[in-house]
Amino acid sequence: RIEIRDVSKRFGALTVLDGVDLDLAPGSVTAIIGPSGAGKSTLLRTINHLERTDTGFVTIDDELVGYHRDGQTLYELKEAAIRRRRAAIGMVFQNFNLFPHLTVIENIIEAPVSVQGVARAEAVELAKDLLARIGLPEKADAYPRHLSGGQQQRVAIARALALKPKVLLFDEPTSALDPELVGEVLDVIKELATSGTTMVIVTHEIGFAREVADTIVFMEGGKILEVGTPSRVFTTPTHQRTREFLAKVL
Ligand code: ATP
Ligand code: MG
Repeated sequence: RIEIRDVSKRFGALTVLDGVDLDLAPGSVTAIIGPSGAGKSTLLRTINHLERTDTGFVTIDDELVGYHRDGQTLYELKEAAIRRRRAAIGMVFQNFNLFPHLTVIENIIEAPVSVQGVARAEAVELAKDLLARIGLPEKADAYPRHLSGGQQQRVAIARALALKPKVLLFDEPTSALDPELVGEVLDVIKELATSGTTMVIVTHEIGFAREVADTIVFMEGGKILEVGTPSRVFTTPTHQRTREFLAKVL
């Protein structure tokens, strides 16, 4: 369960998140949509504390992310503690971000072995299972530069899953891909969505959001303007700005 409470964030004079509240149930799949500059990526980054909040906080299974509390006051955790808690949160970026000098399997086992202290042999077994699951069992010893963008992104997803995260965050996971490679990545995400992993996906793929998500969040100007099921938000949006946005992208 993820709780986002009154999260605000400014960059200089610019308010990028303005009192965001959101609750995500275990196993839910949430798609965040909205125009460029709405604050979607920033909100995603506050969930794993890549961005610290100016007000408010995020909890995952009732544990604060990035902070500890003393009475009413929040104090930021030390970097090592932040990193440990962040291991419960997988993140997949637009640009794959694989380590270029490591093979596929080394990319996948790196964090489990070095951050979580998993035995290497065990991590390798899990990594092989994950490679089978994403449909790339034969690529274990390949280097990222020898893979297509779609394959690299599937490996990035396997790498996130290797940490057995409570939550998986995706920031426009297909927007850097050639159109013909988008489908294979969306298929992997779809399969994960049915497996009970809690996921938050920022996406411009409206059709995909409608198919895979159980909750749609529409953001603009640092605020959540509308939350609902796909059929509700896409067929009877209540907010004028949602209607205008959907008219442009659908
Ligand atoms: P897009 O759909 O284009 O990815 P977004 O909804 O993800 O947009 P954000 O990346 O969250 O939007 O950015 C929201 C606003 O905050 C933008 O105006 C952006 O320029 C600004 N912003 C984001 N990160 C920073 C930063 N580190 N420093 C200054 N301004 C920032
Ligand atoms: Mg963004």
